[in-house]
Amino acid sequence: MTATESDCIFCKIVRGEIPSNQVYEDDQILAFHDIQPVAPVHVLIVPKKHIATLYDATMDDAPVLGKMLAMAPGLARKHGAQNGFRTIINTGRVALQEVQHLHVHVIGGPDSLGRMLPRKEI
Ligand code: AMP
Ligand code: ZN
Repeated sequence: MTATESDCIFCKIVRGEIPSNQVYEDDQILAFHDIQPVAPVHVLIVPKKHIATLYDATMDDAPVLGKMLAMAPGLARKHGAQNGFRTIINTGRVALQEVQHLHVHVIGGPDSLGRMLPRKEI
């Protein structure tokens, strides 16, 4: 285990060293409720392998990334997002990625989430 993996909060969740409210697990993937949900449904899907950001993913990671995306609608429906949901992967400083272990947010609920980002002059 690298120093990064031993310190990483999502690696710790994968190893069972800190608790999570788990909703799915297989040999490659773990999904759990976000600890600070921004909507009634807010699930995080993470690869068990430590990949820091989407920048760090390689073509070898394509199968697990595809699986993470493919399971999103089922998890969304199961947990209460019947009429749509949003998937978000924050990457790096510009996107304010807080946890440096790749994760897909699955966010939804009965009500509209509003626009993806507020429009602003650029
Ligand atoms: P991001 O800004 O995309 O890196 O999002 C990180 C997400 O991880 C935030 O929505 C946090 O609320 C969530 N989070 C941080 N620590 C935990 C934890 N121990 N269990 C569940 N979710 C967490
Ligand atoms: Zn990690």
